[in-house]
Amino acid sequence: MISIEELVEPIKIYNPKADLDAIRKAYDYGLEAHTGQLRASGESYFIHPIEVARIVVQLKLDEATIKTALLHDTVEDTSSSLKQIENIFGPEVAQLVDGVTKLTNLQLSSLETKHAENFRKLFVAMSKDLRVLLVKLSDRLHNMRTIRALPLEKQVRKSRETMEIFAPLAGRMGMQSMREELEDLSFRVLNPEARNSIIRRFLTLRKETDDLIPKIINDINQQLGKENLNARVTGREKKPYSIWRKMQDKKEGFTRLSDIFGFRIVTDKETDAYIAMGAVHRRWRAVPGRFKDYISHPKSNGYRSIHTTVSGRDGKRVEVQIRTNEMHEVAESGVAAHWSYKDGERVKNPFVVDPFKWLRGLSEGFIQSENPSDFFEHVKLEMFQDQVFCFTPKGEVIKLPRGATPIDFAYAIHTGIGDSCVGSLVDGQRVPLWTKLKNGQSVSIIRSAAQKPQSSWESMVFTGRAKSAIRRRLREEHRSENIKVGKEIARVSLKKIGKKSTEKALNTVAKKLSFGNSDDVLAALGSVELTGDELIRILYPKKVTGLSLPSFGARKLSFMGLKPGQEAKTASCCMPIPGERIVGVAIRKEGITIHAIDCDCLGDLDDNLEHWIDLRWPEGDIQTSHPTCLTISMYNGMGVLGRICTLIGERGANITNIDFCDRKPDFYKIIIEIHVKDLKHLSDIMTSIEVDSDISVVERTREILQRVEPGEIKSMVN
Ligand code: MN
Repeated sequence: MISIEELVEPIKIYNPKADLDAIRKAYDYGLEAHTGQLRASGESYFIHPIEVARIVVQLKLDEATIKTALLHDTVEDTSSSLKQIENIFGPEVAQLVDGVTKLTNLQLSSLETKHAENFRKLFVAMSKDLRVLLVKLSDRLHNMRTIRALPLEKQVRKSRETMEIFAPLAGRMGMQSMREELEDLSFRVLNPEARNSIIRRFLTLRKETDDLIPKIINDINQQLGKENLNARVTGREKKPYSIWRKMQDKKEGFTRLSDIFGFRIVTDKETDAYIAMGAVHRRWRAVPGRFKDYISHPKSNGYRSIHTTVSGRDGKRVEVQIRTNEMHEVAESGVAAHWSYKDGERVKNPFVVDPFKWLRGLSEGFIQSENPSDFFEHVKLEMFQDQVFCFTPKGEVIKLPRGATPIDFAYAIHTGIGDSCVGSLVDGQRVPLWTKLKNGQSVSIIRSAAQKPQSSWESMVFTGRAKSAIRRRLREEHRSENIKVGKEIARVSLKKIGKKSTEKALNTVAKKLSFGNSDDVLAALGSVELTGDELIRILYPKKVTGLSLPSFGARKLSFMGLKPGQEAKTASCCMPIPGERIVGVAIRKEGITIHAIDCDCLGDLDDNLEHWIDLRWPEGDIQTSHPTCLTISMYNGMGVLGRICTLIGERGANITNIDFCDRKPDFYKIIIEIHVKDLKHLSDIMTSIEVDSDISVVERTREILQRVEPGEIKSMVN
C-alpha cells in the first residue's frame, strides 16, 4: 500500500497551493472506515481507494476530486454516512461522493449492446458534475487492472461493461490513454486468443524489422534538424485492441508497419507543427488519402493534431501525428484537462475543451439555447436535466423528456402497451398514472385488455408520441361511435320514406360524394357532416319535397311587433324557438336580434331598455324548423346512443350535430343539436328520451355547438 506521502508528492509539484492536510485527513478517514475490509485478492481494501486517488493525481486534478477518490467507497461499503462526509469534508466533496455512489449502484447487469449508448448518457446524466465521471473512470481503471482476482464470470461481465460503457465514455471525454488501457484490459479477458495472436504477430514483425522504431525516430529528427525545429519525436507500438478493431473494420490482416507503429512529433508552436509536416512530406512521399488536419478542424472533444502517413524507409509506411505541447495535453487527458493544475494554477490551455461545449456535442442537439456562463465552474448537465432515463422490468433503458409519466413510458415502449395501460409500478410501488418519472427508476406497466385510452390522459402525458397515439385512438373511438349513430340516422331517415338502409344504397351515396366506402357515409351521418335529408336527396331526389320542415333560415317569418322594413335575426347565445317568450333588441349596427326572455345576455343590455322591442312569434303553425341543443348524460352501453338518435328521428326532428364532451368508463355526456318545430315539439322529444332507463339527465342547453352557425331570419312585416 502506498503511503500518503507518496500520494501527495506529485501534487506538490503540479499544485503547490493544494491543502495537503485536507487530503491527508481524507486518507486517514478512508483508512479508518475501511479497516478490516479485504479485496477479492485478499489485500487490504484501502489499497483500492488509494490507487484510484493515484490515477486522479496523475490526471493532475483538483483537491476535491482527490478527496472524493479516497472516500468514494465509504458511503457504499462502510458505516459512514453522506452526512458525516459533508460535516467533515464539506458539501462539494459530499456531492461528488454521492454522485460516485449513485453510479456504483446503477444496475448494469442486463446490459445489451444496443442500449449501451443510453447507459452512457444515463451515466453522464446522473453525474451532475463531470468530476464524478473522472473518479468513476479511475475507479473502473483500477478495478480492471486488478480484475484477475475475481471469478471468471464476473471478470467477463465487468469487462463487457468496460468495453461498452467506460472505454467509449473515456474516448468521448478525449482521454485517450485511459480509453486504450480500459480497452486493452477488457480485451485481455474477453478475447484472450485474439489478443495473443496479435501479440505473437508483433513479436515476429519486431524480429524481422529489428529496432526499427529508434531508426525511424532518428530519420525524423535528422529531417527536423534541417529546419532548426525544436521538437520531440516519439514512437510506439499500437495497442492490440486498436489493431484488432481496425482488422475487424477492414476485414484484413495486419502486415504494414503503419498498422503497428505510430510516431509523434510534439512542437512548441502551431506554426512549427506545419513546418514539421512540410519537412516530413519533403523527405518522404505522403500516402494519398491518409492526411488529416485536426488542427484546422478539431474534434468535438478538443482533439487537435495533424495525421499523415508517409512511405518511409525502404518504402515502409509510417504513420505520424504532429501537434503542439498544449494540443498533446488535451489529446491525452481530454475534458479532464479543464480541471487540471500546473505550477499551482488551473491549466490555461487554450485548447482545453469547455466541458459545456463538450456536453453539448454529446447531447446531440438536445439543448437549444442554454446560457454557457451558468456552466462555468462545475458543469451542470442542463440538457440532461431535460431528460429522464427509466428502466423496463427487463432492464431496457427508456429515454423520456423530464415531466414524462408512466403513460408516456408505456407509449414509448409500444402503442399497444400505452393503449391498454391501467396502472404502474415504479420501483415496485403502485403510483398514480400522472406521477412524474425520475432518473433511474424502474417502471412496470399494469395492463388490461379492456382498457382504452381516456381523454383525460391527454393532459397527463408529456411526449408527442403518447399524445398523438391517444388522440388517434380517441378519434378512432369517435369514428366507431359515429358509425353506430350514423347507422341509426340512415335507418330512420329512409324508413320515413318507406325505404331500407342497405349496403348498396350507402355505397351509391359513397360513390356520389366521393367517399371511400359505406362506413365513411355512416361516419359522416353520425358526425352530422351529412344529414338524413341530404342522404335521401341523393338517393331519392323526388321523395324529398315536403318530407321535413324547411329550416327557419330558409323561410321568412313575420314576427309580430316589427315595424315595416325592419329585419330581425335570432341570437346565437340563446337560440329561441317558437313557443318561447321572446324579446327583440335593436342595436344600431347589428339590426334587431331576437333573444329568449330568459337569455343571460339580456342582463348586459339593461342600459338600453328603450331599444327593447316586444316581439311575438307569428301565430298559427309556423312550419319551419329551429336549432336547439340538448345535453344528455347516458349510460355507456351498446346501442344507447343509437336508440336516442332513432327516437329523435321518429319524433320528426333532425339531428344536425353531436359533440361528445365527457367520457367516463360508465357514463358519458353528449351535446346534441336538433332542429325542432317549436317548444312543444322539443319537450315532447325530451320526455320520450327521459323515459329511457339508460338516460340519467336530459337538459336543454343554450350552449351552442361551435361549428353551427345560427341561421338568420330576415323578416318583413306585411
Ligand atoms: Mn471503488
